[in-house]
Amino acid sequence: MNDAAPLPGRPHLHYRSGALHLEDARLADLAREYGTPLYVYSRAAMLDALAAYQRGFAGRRARICYAMKANSSLAVLQVFARAGCGFDIVSGGELQRVLAAGADPATVVFSGVGKTRGEMRQALQAGIACFNVESEAELEVLSAVAQALGMRAPVSIRVNPNVDAHTHPYISTGLKDNKFGVAHERVLATYRRAAQLPGLQVKGIDCHIGSQITEETPYLDAMDKVLDLVQAVEAQGIALEHIDFGGGLGIDYQGDTPPAADALWAKLLARVDQRGYGQRLLMVEPGRSLVGNAGVCLTEVLYLKPGEQKNFCIVDAAMNDLPRPMMYEAYHAIVPLDQASSAPHQTYDVVGPICESGDWLGRERSLAVRPGDWLAVLSAGAYCSAMGSTYNTRARAAEVLVDGAQVHLVRERESVSDIFRCERLLPAEKI
Ligand SMILES: *Cc1c(COP(=O)(O)O)cnc(C)c1O
Repeated sequence: MNDAAPLPGRPHLHYRSGALHLEDARLADLAREYGTPLYVYSRAAMLDALAAYQRGFAGRRARICYAMKANSSLAVLQVFARAGCGFDIVSGGELQRVLAAGADPATVVFSGVGKTRGEMRQALQAGIACFNVESEAELEVLSAVAQALGMRAPVSIRVNPNVDAHTHPYISTGLKDNKFGVAHERVLATYRRAAQLPGLQVKGIDCHIGSQITEETPYLDAMDKVLDLVQAVEAQGIALEHIDFGGGLGIDYQGDTPPAADALWAKLLARVDQRGYGQRLLMVEPGRSLVGNAGVCLTEVLYLKPGEQKNFCIVDAAMNDLPRPMMYEAYHAIVPLDQASSAPHQTYDVVGPICESGDWLGRERSLAVRPGDWLAVLSAGAYCSAMGSTYNTRARAAEVLVDGAQVHLVRERESVSDIFRCERLLPAEKI
């Protein structure tokens, strides 16, 4: 029982006298008080992750835009807004969320391949910093929407640099056959069109090549291609005030070794300087790397079901709470809240109660557990709660944010009547 030694890659998560703590909060106390499943986030872990980017960009004209789709809970947004972050949004709903959290709209960039006219109007009226435009068709619509409002929309073209991020196909976005961004060979023509359109104002260039990237080579390759394009676009007389390199940096789920944000950006910025673009406003859009390892999901063991082929450990969290294993066969470490269990170690598939064979959280895990014990599913800060659903009419879990020994309930557990609040019964049958 290595007391107070943090778990690898999670500096604020540690066992004290055999009891798992996040910062100074004993997680078993939180499970007892708030029930399970329960997400718990560490404010310090989020701020530490952000600080690595801030160190990387120290002394630069830079803006770190948190890609809020990773975890869009209002309290999480508040933590980043107060720390000086901007935001990368992908919908009108996300815009309403950042505004509700008190963010400055002038720090917001709007990404996504399918912005509606309504979302464009909403973002123009809010006064966001930039639209990251993903197609030539979108450019025409955005110009018309802005003109109708008597405005000019600030735009950046998201370029698809056609580099392989070496990640899961579903979270790779910078290859030719992905739906994202404007194809490399169309970029110059698209900028020329943007410069002609009366409702637009060209501001910058952006890219985003994928997620859970654990190597630096894809970043260097994408950066070279983007900087080549900056040069080519400006040679046409179209000035670019900012360069946005997107997000995508990975985290340690299972001994993964992504570069640290500060080291990675020191290296990448040396390249930017060498090519003469160090004075531009530089932007990044990290999501997962700011929140992923700042969160855990607590769950209770309901039943143990031994079998000939497999033993199942059935828990009260499920794929509606933790969709990444089902979606990407992703790995989340699963550890006990209490290290001192006298139960025998067994190999289990950890599964939820949902009626789908895809409802598993971890496979072939060695655990010493009994029904009633609590487990923590690690790396649950990103793309878990935010991707959650109410499938099987399972209410969304509560969320707690810890700050030292202080505990804030930041999302109440949803009730079942919340789930069907917008539904309507058919009229009474006439007999
Ligand atoms: C999802 C996304 C990000 C963030 O990706 P992470 O892997 O979570 O860092 C950044 N930019 C855009 C455009 C995205 O779609």
